[in-house]
Amino acid sequence: MSYDFATYDKNYHTEADVVVIGAGIFGLSTAYFLSKMGKKVIVLEKKDVGSGASGSNEAWVWLSTRTREVLPFVRFSQQFYTNIEETIGYDVEYNNCGGYIIAESQEEMDFLAKYCEQRWKDGLPEIHMIGQEEFHKRERGYSPHVMGGTYNPLDGCVNSILVCVGFASAVRDLGNEVWTKTDITAINLKGKKVHEVVTNRGTIRTDCVVNAAGSWAADIGKLVNVDVPCKPERMTVLVSEPVAPYINNVSMTGKYLLDELNKAEQAAAAEAGEAEASAVYVYTQMKKGNLLLGSTEDFVGYDRRVNFENPKAIAKVIGDINPEIRDKKVNIIRAFANFFPFTMDNNPIMGPVPGVEGFIMATGLNGGGMAIGIGAGYTTAQYCAFKETHFRIDYFDIQRKSLWT
Ligand SMILES: Cc1cc2nc3c(=O)[nH]c(=O)nc-3n(C[C@H](O)[C@H](O)[C@H](O)COP(=O)(O)OP(=O)(O)OC[C@H]3O[C@@H](n4cnc5c(N)ncnc54)[C@H](O)[C@@H]3O)c2cc1C
Repeated sequence: MSYDFATYDKNYHTEADVVVIGAGIFGLSTAYFLSKMGKKVIVLEKKDVGSGASGSNEAWVWLSTRTREVLPFVRFSQQFYTNIEETIGYDVEYNNCGGYIIAESQEEMDFLAKYCEQRWKDGLPEIHMIGQEEFHKRERGYSPHVMGGTYNPLDGCVNSILVCVGFASAVRDLGNEVWTKTDITAINLKGKKVHEVVTNRGTIRTDCVVNAAGSWAADIGKLVNVDVPCKPERMTVLVSEPVAPYINNVSMTGKYLLDELNKAEQAAAAEAGEAEASAVYVYTQMKKGNLLLGSTEDFVGYDRRVNFENPKAIAKVIGDINPEIRDKKVNIIRAFANFFPFTMDNNPIMGPVPGVEGFIMATGLNGGGMAIGIGAGYTTAQYCAFKETHFRIDYFDIQRKSLWT
């Protein structure tokens, strides 16, 4: 198996129905579904397949906390993952293990019970509350102060880089191309319509460009004078040595959820230079046994370095919630930081852009791209191919007020 997609870049096309910019989950799943719809597609990637947020993250396929607007996408993605190996011919280590949002106080328990009721109204009836006794019966290693919380059997996890490589391979198997290590120098318009994409490897004639450049989508927007309200948010995660199967589910604390709900305030504070990274408990065990332990989130531009403070803060939170991981001295083998495409209302930016015909947005997956991305890619592909979509796309319009305030 080769991860080097550069070796597939032999037969350059000079024409395509659609050019997709960015080989993350959004761009690759869009290209995959377009390929299935019989379209000629070229994916352009400045680095490598999965080299952005999609290739290294916390790996949850997490439905519990996704916004009401994207729930149809995450349901689609979750269904897709259950058969992904047969569908794209690639094992991505999907594990439909279920997931908790855990409470550390009665106050958080009450908050989660209300949240749960709201989720039922939003269209997620599978999520339900688990009491303290039942929780500790099911799961080991947690501090006795953990009171239980929500449980959703649909949540799970996946190996993110394998998802990217799997989709890229499928795009290639369907006769289309992924050009890696490719610089885009211009998107030329004819009048107000997309006409061609100029790269360091040649010029591609096309009527349709999908901007799936993740945290860099604003740079691509500038090529056609479009402001894209999306910026990078950094997340830091610890990785442990492989250990025997441990906790059975993915889990996070209610504090993570609260942080997610207050993201716009944090971003504003960061802009004012007042924000600090706050550590919250998130937990995943990969199929090969490594624990992914997180995390901190902060706004530091495109700085992907791991600092000293964030890993220490994460280790403290993990030890407080799950002392067994600390006391058994599970070794941490590395820490990584990466950033994802943040938007002010925590929802994607998708669909056409007024004034530039054929320029289609596909970014803003925020902290949920592994769950939202496949459904959002399917919808973007439908829009490019038919100008009609099965799921609503109008919620994600680039001009909506909540992106700009
Ligand atoms: C640490 C971390 C943990 C996370 N945990 C989870 C999780 O547990 N579950 C979950 O669902 N989500 C999680 N996320 C979020 C998820 O990773 C993102 O929402 C998702 O990967 C975004 O996908 P994307 O395709 O839009 O962007 P990306 O994956 O960033 O892809 C964009 C691509 O565009 C390319 N590009 C940029 N500029 C250009 C250019 N000029 N020309 C060509 N190509 C270009 C980049 O190189 C990149 O490959 C996490 C993110 C991080 C950073």
